Amino acid sequence: MTHFDTIIIGAGPAGMMAAIAASFYGQSTLLLEKNRRLGKKLAGTGGGRCNVTNNGTLEDLLAGIPGNGRFLYSVFSQFDNHDIIHFFEDNGVKLKVEDHGRVFPTTDRSQTIIKALEMKMLDLGVDIRTGTEVLSVKKIDQTFQIKTAEQTFTSHKVIVTTGGKAYPSTGSTGFGHDIARHFKLAVTDIEAAESPLLTDFPHKALQGISLDDVTLHYDKHVITHDLLFTHFGLSGPAALRLSSFVKGGETAYLDVLPQVSQEDLAMLLEKEREKSLKNVLKTLVPERLAEFFADGYPLKVKQLSPKESKQLIATIKGLPIPITGKMSLAKSFVTKGGVDLKEINPKTLESKKVSGLHFAGEVLDINAHTGGFNITYCLCTGWVAGIQPIPLS
Ligand SMILES: Cc1cc2nc3c(=O)[nH]c(=O)nc-3n(C[C@H](O)[C@H](O)[C@H](O)COP(=O)(O)OP(=O)(O)OC[C@H]3O[C@@H](n4cnc5c(N)ncnc54)[C@H](O)[C@@H]3O)c2cc1C
Repeated sequence: MTHFDTIIIGAGPAGMMAAIAASFYGQSTLLLEKNRRLGKKLAGTGGGRCNVTNNGTLEDLLAGIPGNGRFLYSVFSQFDNHDIIHFFEDNGVKLKVEDHGRVFPTTDRSQTIIKALEMKMLDLGVDIRTGTEVLSVKKIDQTFQIKTAEQTFTSHKVIVTTGGKAYPSTGSTGFGHDIARHFKLAVTDIEAAESPLLTDFPHKALQGISLDDVTLHYDKHVITHDLLFTHFGLSGPAALRLSSFVKGGETAYLDVLPQVSQEDLAMLLEKEREKSLKNVLKTLVPERLAEFFADGYPLKVKQLSPKESKQLIATIKGLPIPITGKMSLAKSFVTKGGVDLKEINPKTLESKKVSGLHFAGEVLDINAHTGGFNITYCLCTGWVAGIQPIPLS
């Protein structure tokens, strides 16, 4: 068979959910994916555990989607994060909620999510072709022609879910933007978002340390979230979120104990003055970080001069971190920019100019924080594009 009601290009979260929705509504559906396996990028999210959604309120979702989240009001009124949770639970996947509302499968394995999506597609009769790269999309009269290396498929509805341009090694190389340009739709400038930060910091001493709910300050920006010291600098949600405000050349300040005031720290040092400084700091922060802070100071707390105590507390509450740059688009988590939302009907995700042509997921000019927010809007836009009827010819 080479003619389908709906053809979907790209099997990330947006494409797989679009395929489920279209076939659920009775459309014969073909899903084309150039990788050999489904959901390659999705598999790497949440440290390989698949951060499938976030269980926050609508306000939380919009706050988690700083890049054009408001465009999604209509989408979320049709299918939202709670629908995602119900969808997976109805399909036999047990979920759990972790810090910051992040939702994961209880198995802690991405494959649980990807398999559930695959099984649902197969149940509904979606024709899934992996290892099949789409080379071009054309529209002749009312019919789309989708060309792969082996054959040409036709349909009256196409959903482009090819992702953005971040992490192209997972397959998202910006092909959907080329499709949009072919149909003379505007594409906004593409940039990296949610990028790990490069620093001149003493990496070796701190490499591998991960901190929960610390605060990064830069200029007027204050971000409290988890942070990871890596071999190149900083990663984790706090660093990724700060990345949209820095270019390199700035100094950020890290407060590793945002819940504890300078006064409380001074009182603690006074109370524990007979103890070793390292041991006292170890009660507050991970051991290697305690050693880092204690380095260069006397062994015992009581040996600290008033100036040294003040300096130590100031460093714990505002460790200066010179930022030298950020990772390129190829190593950033998310793409900022994409198919211009002015081109797209927010209720149906259909192109305003080309009937039957829909876009969903990161190919659109929408970007979110990690923490399940991207995956949420990708699954939800996929569903909404999928349920749209075939255009009347
Ligand atoms: C390391 C990493 C960690 C992340 N962690 C999180 C997280 O914790 N929380 C969060 O919310 N987000 C996270 N993200 C972002 C999230 O994974 C993406 O926003 C999301 O996967 C985008 O979904 P999508 O369906 O739009 O596109 P993608 O998942 O990129 O899928 C697009 C698919 O289209 C296919 N394709 C492209 N061109 C063609 C073609 N010509 N023919 C056929 N197929 C094609 C690609 O091979 C790919 O499989 C993370 C991203 C990365 C890289």
